[in-house]
This record gives sequence, structure tokens and C-alpha cells, in this order.
Amino acid sequence: MRIDLHTHSTASDGSDSPEELVAAAARAGLDVVALTDHDTTFGWAPATAALPPGLRLVPGAELSCVSPDGNGRHVTVHLLAYLFDDTSDELVDEQLRLRAERRERLLRMAVMMREDGFSVDPELLLAELPENASAGRPHLAAALVRAGVVSSVDEAFARYLGAGSPYHLRRADTPVRRAIEMIRRAGGVTVLAHPFARARGPVVTAGVIADLASHGLTGLEVNHPDHDPGTRAELAGIARELDLVTTGSSDYHGVHKSLRIGQETTDPEQFERLVSSATGNHVRGG
Ligand code: AMP
Ligand code: FE
Ligand code: FE
Ligand code: ZN
Repeated sequence: MRIDLHTHSTASDGSDSPEELVAAAARAGLDVVALTDHDTTFGWAPATAALPPGLRLVPGAELSCVSPDGNGRHVTVHLLAYLFDDTSDELVDEQLRLRAERRERLLRMAVMMREDGFSVDPELLLAELPENASAGRPHLAAALVRAGVVSSVDEAFARYLGAGSPYHLRRADTPVRRAIEMIRRAGGVTVLAHPFARARGPVVTAGVIADLASHGLTGLEVNHPDHDPGTRAELAGIARELDLVTTGSSDYHGVHKSLRIGQETTDPEQFERLVSSATGNHVRGG
């Protein structure tokens, strides 16, 4: 059994359509793939309709959240949510709010860059996004690559789009404990995404993870491309102590990141534990 529980399509900042993504998952020999676009479930229906025989799809999302870091500050955290009822009013409302804010924020970042003379067209950038798609910095990064301002998405992040850059704007993300509670009320389960991806920016302490676990968090994403072997061992230890499910996933974004779908996978026993805790939706296909 090969299981990858974290991927992105054109419904957010991936480059494969949901249909292409499930085809890529099957070609990579996966048995189970979760679609976890940022702050949207719009990819679920087209991915389900295009499921190749033998592949199962776990409907999910990656929620943009803010959390205390355990040292008196706040940090951005990403919360993977699976198998929740996507018609939950409070979830639908919060995702609408976040997607509107994502568009507004990307537009303002692009306008600042244009005002400083960069060759970028903010209105065109937004017009080119698929309808309802969650806008993200990778879209602006790709536009900067196309305009020849930088030679890669990584360079765009390093020079202009990272948290330390004057062009970077924050969003008003969902408090993570509120997001965990909303997903639970909708019958779903939550996994903290890439908890110790320190290269991306500041992360939470183990104490914060313990607090989230006591407020209904089900799992930790341990095997992730942004975690080195020492970090994985550290997280596995925390998960064991707190009796949390552990997952492994690629965080595939198509051509926007140089990693392969299925390059990290989840242990089938851990997957069963995760699925058996959810009541809000069902795994599709098979
Ligand atoms: P946003 O959702 O707009 O805050 O942008 C964050 C997204 O950008 C993440 O979900 C990743 O997909 C992507 N990302 C973050 N850092 C990098 C990086 N250094 N290189 C490429 N993509 C990145
Ligand atoms: Fe992303
Ligand atoms: Fe993430
Ligand atoms: Zn992701």
C-alpha cells in the first residue's frame, strides 16, 4: 500500500488540474492519495470524477492558521484536515473569507512590486487564476519567472516573497484551535502539516503541539520533504508521547516545487487509525 496524504492542484497553488493530479498519482503507483488544496474543497468533485481504477481519494484541505509559537509570539501553521463534511456552514464561510483575503493580499503584493518597477501585471495575475482557486505566493512567483524577473520559484521566494521581504504581506488566518474544533464538529480529523519545517520560518514548540493534541488534534506530519532525518526522529518521539497518528506525504505542487508525488508515504496502519476517527465524509473510489 502506497499512501500520499498531502497534494495540491490548480484549485490552489499546484500546477496539475485535479484530473491530472489523480492521473499522476496512479502513474506513481499510489493506492491512496489525499487532495489537500489550501483553503478550498473545489478540487474534490473533479478529482473524484476522474479517479482511475484502483486509486482511492481522501478528500481534504490544508487550512491556513495562526498559532501561539510557545515563546510569546504567533506563527503561521498549516493544518491538514481530512474527511470532513464540506457543507458545514462555518467551514464554508471561513474558507470563503480566507480565499477572498488571499486574492486581495496577492493583488496588494503584486501592486507593490509593480510600483517599484517590476514587470508584473497584478490584474492579469488574478484574472488568470481559475475561478474560485485559492491564490497564493506561488502564483506570483510563477508570474515573476515568466516575466524573467527571477529564474526560479525558489529564487522568487528567497528574494521577494519570503516573510522577511518588504513585499510580503501577512493574512488574518484562522486561530488553529478554532480550526481543529470546526473540523471536529464537521466530523473530520486534523494533522499538523510540516510542524518543524524550520527553513520556511519560525515554528511551534513541542509544548504547543501537546496543547493542540489535548484540543483534538489527531496527527503529525512527520515524513515531509522539509524535515531532515533528525527532525523526523524528534517529531516521531513527540507523536509517540502524545499518542498522535503519524503521516508521511510529498506536499506535491506539480511544477511549482521540485518534488515527486508519492516521494514520501504514510504507513497503512497509521492511515487506518486516521480514517477510523473520521465520520464526516468518505474515502472515494477503490
Ligand atoms: P501563501 O499560501 O501565499 O502564504 O504561500 C505559501 C505557499 O508557498 C506554500 O504553501 C508553498 O506551496 C509555497 N512556498 C513556500 N515557500 C516556498 C519556497 N521557498 N519555494 C517554493 N514554494 C514555496
Ligand atoms: Fe502551497
Ligand atoms: Fe503547507
Ligand atoms: Zn501543502
